[in-house]
Amino acid sequence: MIRKLFIALFLFPIVGPLFAQEATKPDVLIVTTGGTIASNTNAPMSEGHELIRAVPELTKYANIDVEEFVRIGSSKMTPAIWLSLVKRINERVEENPNLGCIIITHGTDTMEETAFFLNLTHRSTVPIVLVGSMRSSNEISADGPANLLNALRVGISEEAIGKGVLVVLNENISAGRDLIKSHNRRVDAFASTERGFIGSVDPEKVVFYSAPTKAHTIKSEFNVYQLASLPPVDIVQDYAGLDSTIFSYYKARPNQGLVISSFAGGRVSNGFREIFNLPESHKPIVIASSIKGGRIMGSNREGTPIVVSNDLPANKARILLMLALTKTKEPREIQQIFDKY
Ligand code: ASP
Repeated sequence: MIRKLFIALFLFPIVGPLFAQEATKPDVLIVTTGGTIASNTNAPMSEGHELIRAVPELTKYANIDVEEFVRIGSSKMTPAIWLSLVKRINERVEENPNLGCIIITHGTDTMEETAFFLNLTHRSTVPIVLVGSMRSSNEISADGPANLLNALRVGISEEAIGKGVLVVLNENISAGRDLIKSHNRRVDAFASTERGFIGSVDPEKVVFYSAPTKAHTIKSEFNVYQLASLPPVDIVQDYAGLDSTIFSYYKARPNQGLVISSFAGGRVSNGFREIFNLPESHKPIVIASSIKGGRIMGSNREGTPIVVSNDLPANKARILLMLALTKTKEPREIQQIFDKY
């Protein structure tokens, strides 16, 4: 009896505020997909819950729910996985109206592609932050835990809302559209085009410098939730002396569009000479510069299937063309889409 009284009088006030505090923390869903952040060079890749349990600091900031979606190196990512990922995210957003943000752990090889795909197809204001690492968990100064905690801090910050899908690595915040992996090994592997990083994760607070200007998420016109697959699009790399039979091969493949990763300014070798004589009704051909800086000037060439990607590199131009093809096959309309996103 005395013990019960003690519990009622003394413990309850202590327990009460603790629970109250829990209720003030945002709900965060962490979706795991594999990558180096889940890797140990001496052991199999960690299961999602195990990966997140290794960073207990996360629970100081949020009520964490973990879902392992896939466990792969991101070089094995596919459009089919993107499609089921964005559908699953939509289900989770609809299930929990209080969801504060979604963190996706991901390999860095295709992180920029997944981020751009979600940036264009996630039809919600719930922030998504992708995070990975350059070092495996068993390496000295592994960067995964700090990156993960920083991603969470960014995701739950008020300012993350309305900025589209974000990527956090090495204390930098990038817009999903503009992120580029630019080093094979170092922890500062990610650069962010001329648009620059849009913020920084300081120990003291999360700071945003700017916001993306291109359309994304709730302003995007692409609704893929009912689609069974995405239209296939191939990328062909141009180079000095490309043989025209390479283009003939890609032209004949069962794709619905083609992206040429061209020279600076959108210039192409003679192997692609034929594209300027193809009719407008031919499947669209997007020209993307393989130079990371500046944009291709000019626009869709009247009467041809040619569209220019502006400043999007070929891997992202392919994603935008796949999505554009769900709406139109008209090169002029596709060019408008490239100008908008
Ligand atoms: N192999 C890794 C991947 O899944 C590389 C990384 O995550 O940094 O992309």
